[in-house]
Amino acid sequence: MKKVFIFLGPPGSGKGTQTSRLADKLSIPHIDTGSLLRKNIEDNTELGKIAKGYIDKGHLVPLNVVASVIEDRIKKEDCNNGYILDGYPRSIEQAQELVNILDRVGKYSLKDDAVAIYFDIDNEILIQRLINRRSCPKCGTIYNLISNPPKIMDYCDICDTKLITRKDDNEETARERFVTYEKETAPLYEYFKQMGILKEIDADKPISEIWEDLKELFLEE
Ligand code: AMP
Repeated sequence: MKKVFIFLGPPGSGKGTQTSRLADKLSIPHIDTGSLLRKNIEDNTELGKIAKGYIDKGHLVPLNVVASVIEDRIKKEDCNNGYILDGYPRSIEQAQELVNILDRVGKYSLKDDAVAIYFDIDNEILIQRLINRRSCPKCGTIYNLISNPPKIMDYCDICDTKLITRKDDNEETARERFVTYEKETAPLYEYFKQMGILKEIDADKPISEIWEDLKELFLEE
């Protein structure tokens, strides 16, 4: 069984929903750089102040900022038995930096212990998904007004908190995030393929079917 699960895919491809389930199933942490950065912004940290401008424009936050967030997180004891990376690495540069981070932290290697799962899906479907995405600011549950709506409109099924729309889920920033994805992140497909650790998932399916496909992939490992 692999120890490091890297989820790759365009914004809104459903990675967040599936990685949360996988984290529960395997009892390992789900490390989501987007959420870690947003938490820094909320807490008004120095890191958060730098990250905010980039996130609001749909651009990548600088390499060293994300690297320090990731390194601090992987160092924690709850990552000793493995972890899921959601939204990191997001460029070839970050993948190379990840190799250095893992060397320093000493928790697993990309080549031997990691699998990269690529969520394959059409961009236009995704733009619609992003615009209709809502999330719970308290427990983090993600909804989609079309494919996975809450039972009571605008309120979380789990903790009854009012749902929010992420600031960067408006159409303009969403489109910019795709441009960034195609330019910076998509090349990781070939990078991980050449490394021999790439697996693909057809992400244009209902959530429950994607979950079944994922489980099949991991039972094979
Ligand atoms: P996400 O929640 O994964 O969609 O990320 C939201 C935003 O956070 C992205 O559009 C980037 O601005 C920033 N971000 C998240 N992960 C990274 C990363 N690995 N490298 C640089 N920026 C990131």
